[in-house]
Amino acid sequence: MPVEFTFLGTCAADFSPRLQGDCKDRFDFDARRASCALINGRYLLDCGPHCPDSFRIAGYDTKKVTDIIITHLHSDHFNPDNIAFIAKDHPVTLWVREDAVVPQIENVTVVKMTNYEKYDINEDFSVTGLPANHDEKVFPRHLLIEAGGKKIFYGMDGGWLLFRTYMQLWKAGLDLCVLDGTCGDYEGDYRMGEHNSIPMIRLMLPSLRTVGTIDDHTLVYISHLAPSLHKSHAETVQICKKDNINVAYDGLKLSL
Ligand SMILES: [Zn+2]
Ligand SMILES: [Zn+2]
Repeated sequence: MPVEFTFLGTCAADFSPRLQGDCKDRFDFDARRASCALINGRYLLDCGPHCPDSFRIAGYDTKKVTDIIITHLHSDHFNPDNIAFIAKDHPVTLWVREDAVVPQIENVTVVKMTNYEKYDINEDFSVTGLPANHDEKVFPRHLLIEAGGKKIFYGMDGGWLLFRTYMQLWKAGLDLCVLDGTCGDYEGDYRMGEHNSIPMIRLMLPSLRTVGTIDDHTLVYISHLAPSLHKSHAETVQICKKDNINVAYDGLKLSL
């Protein structure tokens, strides 16, 4: 069975005021919601401030969510009220880094994960946390997921890759590689220690090919785009095309 991967939000933390206006009830390429993604309708990667709206607009049922896997505790990725909303009438397991401090939420069981260890959530779904180059105060990590025989890297937030994370991705032969694309197509941004720019990703991809992390069959996407640092979605798609970088957008559903 193909694995369904849906981008429910693809924004960095600079949200558009239009989300409260003409985009209240719809997705728009240029009014992105907070980054989160859903696999097979039940495994949620991050749960930020817009998660309930994203579910409603995309037509997914929050009751089907069994597991929420958190990359880090910045407020655009971790919103306890919205986790409580999803878990209001059924049990949910929350997966966080082992040293993360999270509040108690009704119906939610917290599992603390040691980095580099693979956790089998189900017989056809496992996740490994890999340290990310991001604000250490919020327990950052990337996620390496195996779902239905497919390998997915969900790498946000984080600038470049840390050594041991990169080593874990050697010869991974990813089916889907989602990279932090916070900054646009320019050089010199000060955020290089916590986020990628498009030129950084251009440099990174050939090396990831060399070590077999990605190959011809890998879908490469950028997500977590900051609208204030990028041109429009349509222009960004054109900018990224020649390097085989795809640009995620809210509501995009992939079948792997
Ligand atoms: Zn973020
Ligand atoms: Zn962050």
